[in-house]
Amino acid sequence: MFRQVLVAGIGALGSEVVKNLGLIGCGAVFLADCDVLEEKNTARSILLREGAAIGQSKVSYALDRLQTWFPQTLWNGMPVEIADVEPEQFLKAEVLFSCVDTDLARTEISALAARYRLPVCDAGLGGVSTRVGRVSWFPGVDSAACFACLLSSGRRAELFSMWESDVHACWAHERNEQPVWTSTATMASIVAGLQVEIALSATENAKESFSVHLDLDGVPLSQTVQHSRSVMCPLHAEMSGALFPICTLAECSTCGRQFFPHRRIAWVRRWGACPFCNGRELVILDSLRNEMVERAS
Ligand SMILES: [Zn+2]
Ligand SMILES: [Zn+2]
Repeated sequence: MFRQVLVAGIGALGSEVVKNLGLIGCGAVFLADCDVLEEKNTARSILLREGAAIGQSKVSYALDRLQTWFPQTLWNGMPVEIADVEPEQFLKAEVLFSCVDTDLARTEISALAARYRLPVCDAGLGGVSTRVGRVSWFPGVDSAACFACLLSSGRRAELFSMWESDVHACWAHERNEQPVWTSTATMASIVAGLQVEIALSATENAKESFSVHLDLDGVPLSQTVQHSRSVMCPLHAEMSGALFPICTLAECSTCGRQFFPHRRIAWVRRWGACPFCNGRELVILDSLRNEMVERAS
């Protein structure tokens, strides 16, 4: 049983994952999701359904529901991207459930997991059909594959370079991302159940990475694939300093003044405001590229 876990993303998969964590009596769960509720979320999620106010933070709404449903579990969370969650949460957690829907988000989670030596249980829905799903286990040891190991070096370089580009707004507008497959609520439920089940058994004994592919089109099929580490993946070397590119100098387009945010570029683009006039139109003038982006390119 888990004492403490992290959950990144509470969409179709994540809301089923947290429900399962509540049902099995997980000790404490910390949620990270910076999205607000939209109409489309409430239709497909048991968690974000009744009385949900469109525009409300998903996390705050989910925490209210979860505390009522499963009072024996300690529920906490922040309406932020997983990269902005306090280090202490990563250090406390036994596993991170990755319930995000872009490869960009998954590479960020891989980088965080590498830094904190944290096992990740990732899942994905859809692909070639709406009745397809996948659960991957990454044990969080240097010798085992991470999500980024499974990518081609070209794709990896492209994703790492996106860490410092302006498309990064809670991963919502990732360019070149495959079309989002509208998976069904039943597939989300099945895959999320499998995700929690695999994490439960793998946390104890699996020191290698693997994926379980589920295909319910035609004759139902489950297939397990072992992953080996890519020698080209930059996430396995010791890394000092900031994990993500940091904006060191920004200029406000409204009042023209310059300031020193010292925050993740992605954070500045999404949340940053001018300290003088509160303007939101900011130009990044200088940044510290991090080692990872350098190594991947
Ligand atoms: Zn890797
Ligand atoms: Zn200003």
